[in-house]
Amino acid sequence: MGKAKKFRGLKFKYKVDGINKQLTDKYQTIEEFLEAEFPKNNNPLSPTGDTKIYDVTWNTHKVSINKIVNTLSDLRKVLSVDCYVTNTDIRLEKIKPRELERKSTYSIEQIRELTKEVLFEEDKRNAKVELDGDIIKGNSQRYQTFFTKGIKCVCCGIEGKYFAKEKVYRDKSYHLNLYAVDENGKEVLMTKDHILPKSKGGQDHIDNYQTMCVNCNVAKGNNLED
Ligand SMILES: [Zn+2]
Repeated sequence: MGKAKKFRGLKFKYKVDGINKQLTDKYQTIEEFLEAEFPKNNNPLSPTGDTKIYDVTWNTHKVSINKIVNTLSDLRKVLSVDCYVTNTDIRLEKIKPRELERKSTYSIEQIRELTKEVLFEEDKRNAKVELDGDIIKGNSQRYQTFFTKGIKCVCCGIEGKYFAKEKVYRDKSYHLNLYAVDENGKEVLMTKDHILPKSKGGQDHIDNYQTMCVNCNVAKGNNLED
């Protein structure tokens, strides 16, 4: 390959034993990613393992791969193609907020009530709740954060006002996003922030989450998740 291509913000989701995981910007360039050595055996990122991946994004772009890319080793193969940038195997699609398909909005109280029985349910099969005909995952770590840590941004204080039932057009199921509204009437997405960033060893655990609006979260330099 020629000069290193910026690969900042590589993100992909993978599944291990049916559980969704996410890997974020560990690698700054494609080369770094390709040259990384992954231990074999139990490491979920082992290129020889059957790690199923999906939802690959690069910076804020969704990576559409025309070839069938099911596993980490498939991804490495595609990315190692020399003419990566012009290769039609990979297209970059900008993810725009308007690509979110919104069905309806709900009050904070409605969603608190809907999820309260399953909020900390560990078995995802038991954590599904129905909301006007759509099945929603009721134990999302975001809902856990909002309902135990509060719905105000810990930095700027903007407060979540309602939930919207939304999905990315290609997704099958809907989820709920919490929104605040700023002084110009513009919606501001509320996110869950890692208090101690994952890059510094912070855990994926409710104790390490706090509520932050998307603007403050971006300013903090975190990767938004989930
Ligand atoms: Zn904020």
